[in-house]
Amino acid sequence: MMHQPPLITPDVLIIGGGPAGLTAAAELRRLGVQHVLVVDREENAGGIPRHSDHTGYGLRDLHRVMTGPAYARHLAARAADTGAEIRTRTMVTGWADDTTVDVTSPDGRYRIRPRALVLATGARERPRTARRVPGDRPHGVYTTGQLQNLVHLHHRPVGKRAVIVGGELVSWSAAMTLREAGCTPALMVSQYPKAESYGTFNAVGRTMLRVPVATRSRVTRVIGKGRCQAVEIEHLDTGRRRTIDCDTVVFTGDWIPDHELARSGGIALDEGTLGPLTDTALRTSRPGVFAIGNMLHPVDTADVAALDGKHVASQVINYLHGRRQPSEGVRLLADEPFRWIAPQILRPDDPAPARDRLLLWTDTFVRFPKVTVRQGERIVTQRTLAWPAAPGRVFRVPTSVLDGVSHTAGPVRIGLT
Ligand SMILES: Cc1cc2nc3c(=O)[nH]c(=O)nc-3n(C[C@H](O)[C@H](O)[C@H](O)COP(=O)(O)OP(=O)(O)OC[C@H]3O[C@@H](n4cnc5c(N)ncnc54)[C@H](O)[C@@H]3O)c2cc1C
Repeated sequence: MMHQPPLITPDVLIIGGGPAGLTAAAELRRLGVQHVLVVDREENAGGIPRHSDHTGYGLRDLHRVMTGPAYARHLAARAADTGAEIRTRTMVTGWADDTTVDVTSPDGRYRIRPRALVLATGARERPRTARRVPGDRPHGVYTTGQLQNLVHLHHRPVGKRAVIVGGELVSWSAAMTLREAGCTPALMVSQYPKAESYGTFNAVGRTMLRVPVATRSRVTRVIGKGRCQAVEIEHLDTGRRRTIDCDTVVFTGDWIPDHELARSGGIALDEGTLGPLTDTALRTSRPGVFAIGNMLHPVDTADVAALDGKHVASQVINYLHGRRQPSEGVRLLADEPFRWIAPQILRPDDPAPARDRLLLWTDTFVRFPKVTVRQGERIVTQRTLAWPAAPGRVFRVPTSVLDGVSHTAGPVRIGLT
């Protein structure tokens, strides 16, 4: 007979101990769920903020601002204090059946069959290979995550002169890490007419970190045998190419959800976010499986991911108590210039989404966006928002733009006029 790995059966399993997973765990315990288990493949829980060693975390969820590592420690300690069990160096590697997962840990392999499961595996930056940047394959080419792991967790040296690909918030975070590691960020390369980050960050970044930005540009080649020596960049409008000397290249932003588990488990994915398709209660297509955090909206800030965790807790409890089946819903679809919207399903009896916001991603800068909601031929709402829609960061829209949507009249399209 085949050897069966040991089985444990918590009430709720949370896969991923980042801000979203840890906050969900604390809230589930606070609401009285008995056995809440969080597993994370890393040495310590906390997710990305563990190695994002600068301030800017915690504003919306904890109402204070802290550094990434302090924030990670705080969330992990709070979850543990509430009585949630956190198992680190524990990776979920696959599905044994629809509700049972296979796990590998230093204690060996085992299985977990929870009554409800929450996916909170986050998002990552696409590496150079996935962005199809040609050229040599030298050392010294990282994503921000890899760079910060190297510098802040392993205290290893990087190079002396770097090119940063991207102009998002995370790109300035990479610039700070490079400076701390004694590496000069020589140039930031953005395909957009201006760096995607907030104007204030761009101004502060350019003055304090002294990083020039090459706009409307892309990297067309990485050069160097052994160690990186240079990159070639191209101006998108003129086609003019030039070579920039550097021994380090950091590919920043261009996020993709860590969706392998969801995908391999046959859970429906949204073609825009590439994360699980969810409704406003954060249910996935599989009963009893929920999803939260940046795997749903790649990427928003950590506090927004954490507040997904808070939002999902009562929905998980409703499921555990067998309260009503979800009713039929309508699809929410992103129209031009949006690339994606989250969540994507609106059901009549469900709660509003976390923070009462729809999250969208745009590739075009629009200073005064007039949000237009359409259902079939009918215009449901048109509303001009006071904040711009800008590439490189999530555009947040109050859910009230959906007031007046019919739950039986087919897909709802959200775009800009
Ligand atoms: C460089 C950088 C700077 C940033 N700066 C800020 C900032 O200043 N302020 C801010 O608010 N936000 C910032 N962010 C964004 C913030 O870090 C994210 O919004 C937040 O970490 C998302 O939380 P999460 O829980 O969804 O995912 P994550 O933090 O990515 O956590 C996911 C966890 O899941 C685990 N996991 C994945 N797959 C498995 C598996 N199969 N088995 C077990 N465990 C698994 C991972 O190990 C990880 O710990 C920054 C991000 C980066 C990259």
